[in-house]
Amino acid sequence: MNIHEYQAKALLRSYGAPVSDGRAVLKAEDAKNAASQLGGPLWVVKAQIHAGGRGKGKFVEPEAGEKGGVRLAKSVEEAAEQAKQMLGKTLVTHQTGPAGKQVNRIYIEDGSDITRELYLALLVDRQTSRVSFVCSTEGGMDIEEVAAHTPEKILSFSVDPATGYQAYHGRRIAFSLGLTGNQIKQCVKLMGDLYRAFIEKDMEMLEINPLIVMTDGNLKVLDAKLGFDNNALYRQPDIMELRDTTEEDPKELEASKFDLNYIALDGEIGCMVNGAGLAMATMDIIKLYGAEPANFLDVGGGATKEKVTEAFKIITSDPNVKGILVNIFGGIMRCDVIAEGVIAAVKEVGLQVPLVVRLEGTNVEKGKEIIANSGLNVIAGDNLSDAAQKIVKAVKG
Ligand code: GDP
Ligand code: MG
Repeated sequence: MNIHEYQAKALLRSYGAPVSDGRAVLKAEDAKNAASQLGGPLWVVKAQIHAGGRGKGKFVEPEAGEKGGVRLAKSVEEAAEQAKQMLGKTLVTHQTGPAGKQVNRIYIEDGSDITRELYLALLVDRQTSRVSFVCSTEGGMDIEEVAAHTPEKILSFSVDPATGYQAYHGRRIAFSLGLTGNQIKQCVKLMGDLYRAFIEKDMEMLEINPLIVMTDGNLKVLDAKLGFDNNALYRQPDIMELRDTTEEDPKELEASKFDLNYIALDGEIGCMVNGAGLAMATMDIIKLYGAEPANFLDVGGGATKEKVTEAFKIITSDPNVKGILVNIFGGIMRCDVIAEGVIAAVKEVGLQVPLVVRLEGTNVEKGKEIIANSGLNVIAGDNLSDAAQKIVKAVKG
C-alpha cells in the first residue's frame, strides 16, 4: 500500500526527520487560508497522487496551466491560484500511465532554498533478504536513468538485521554524498530515524528524491514516497487509516473485498484461475499463442460459488476484456462449484464476449455437465494448450 507525500512527511517528522511545514487541502476555497499559515516568502504547491515525476508531469486540461504538478509560488494568492488550477484536474507523469491520475488533494509547503539535490532510498533487497540503503549524488532525477547510464554514482549496501542500523552506515552514506562537517552528524541521525521508521512501520520502500542540502547547509527531506507491506497492514492500524482508495484500481479494490488475488493488466483476455502457479502458467500460454492477459486472478483453493461469481463480475467489468478463459484444476476446489459460479455469474451479468472453460480434476464430469446443460454459449477447452488456442482464436479471429 502506498500513501501520499504529505502523509509520508508527517510520519517521518514524527520519527525526527527534517521536513518543511505544510498544509494539505482538498478544496480550492481552503487553499488561501492554508498558504497564509505558512511563513513564505516561497511556497511550493504539490499535487498529491500516488505517482512520482509530478514536477515534470503535464495536465490534460488546458485550464490547469502549462506547468507540472509541483509549482513554486511567491505569494499566498499565487499559491492559492495554483492549487485551484490543479485540483480536480488530471496529471500525467511517466509513472501514471497515459490516462494520468486525478488530483484530489494538494499539499502547500514552505519553500526551501536548495543548493544540492541528493537521492536516498531504503528497500527490501530480495537477494540478501535484508534492508538496503541506496544513495546517490544525482538527486531530483529518475534513479532508473542514473542506474542505466552512471551506475558508479549509486552506492548500495545492506544492513545486518542482527545489529541493525549503526552510525558507521550513516557515515558511509554521508561521505559518498560528499557531505561535510555538521551535515555528517545530521545524516547519521536522519538515516537512523529513517531505518527505525522503515522497520517499525513494516515498509517495503522508502524513497527520498530529493534529499536536499539547503543554502544554510542543513539537510531536508524534500520529497517522500513510502510503500508498506500489505501482509503486515493488520498490525499497522495507523497506516491503514492513511489508505486512499481513490488511488487504487477499482477492480483490485473490489477483488480485495472478496479475498481474491487480482492484479489488473493491460491485455485483452480475462483469466479466472485457481492457484498462483496455474495463473502464471495460464498468462504465459496466452502470450505464447499471441495474445495478452487482461489480469492475473487466483480465486484461491477454497473458493465458493459467490466468490467465483464476484471474480467473474470483476473480469467482465473491464472494457478491455475481449474474451475470457476460465482454467481450473479442481483439487480442494471442486469443478462443479466453479461451473455453478460461472453459470450464476453469466446469468447475472450477461456474456458479451467469448468464454472458454477448461476444467480438470475433482468432479470434472459433473462440472462439464453443468456447463453443457446450461444452454450458454461456452466453448469447452480439452487441456490448457487447447483452451488457450481457442480463446486467442475467438478474440483475434
Ligand atoms: P516529483 O516530481 O513528483 O518527484 O516531486 P518533488 O517533490 O521531488 O519535486 C520536484 C522538484 O521540484 C524537485 O526536484 C525540486 O527541484 C523542486 N522543488 C520541490 N520543492 C521545492 C522547494 O521547496 N524549493 C525549490 N526551490 N524547489 C523545489
Ligand atoms: Mg521527487
